[in-house]
Amino acid sequence: MSSQAKFPTLSQEHVIGIFEEKGALLTGHFRLSSGLHSDKYLQCALVLQHPDVAERIGSAMAALFSDKKPEAVIGPAIGGIVIAQEVGRALGVRAMFSEREGDSMTLRRGFSVAKGERVLVVEDVITTGGSVQEAVDALVALGADVVGVGVIIDRSGDRATFSVPFKSLARLEVSAYTEEECPLCRSGEPIYKPGSRKS
Ligand code: ZN
Repeated sequence: MSSQAKFPTLSQEHVIGIFEEKGALLTGHFRLSSGLHSDKYLQCALVLQHPDVAERIGSAMAALFSDKKPEAVIGPAIGGIVIAQEVGRALGVRAMFSEREGDSMTLRRGFSVAKGERVLVVEDVITTGGSVQEAVDALVALGADVVGVGVIIDRSGDRATFSVPFKSLARLEVSAYTEEECPLCRSGEPIYKPGSRKS
């Protein structure tokens, strides 16, 4: 079986199309957990609630990193949990998630990585990439060899950079403003704060 057949790829257009079809790409006035305001919000859970779609996206993510031979996949909770599971399934390796304990990101629940273990970090969507870099730093501190960062949708507009190779299935250029400079605030649009933490 060729690697292409094992890990079917998805084009950026296809990924965005899935998000639109599942109602996971919202338009309005949103406060992101990064504190920035935006006219668009991605609710990846609405896509990943469909296991067949989640599995397909996981396979496409696996295709981006199969050459790095990851031995484990880790996603920061909560957004990274489902996609980590699906990428781990596609690669045939175990999937874990990192969590905050106080101010620091760490592995709990008995999860562990071996010294030098090749680990891939995945997330559903990033705006600043802060949580993902925290997870990378935590894994490096535990002795893992972090071989890459993969996200379904990069909406950082090049603001997110990582200390390891970074790939996304799709990029979404959306405006993000500080409260002071937000045109939606200025025009008096009510703001909506989505429930899940996302940075
Ligand atoms: Zn605003």
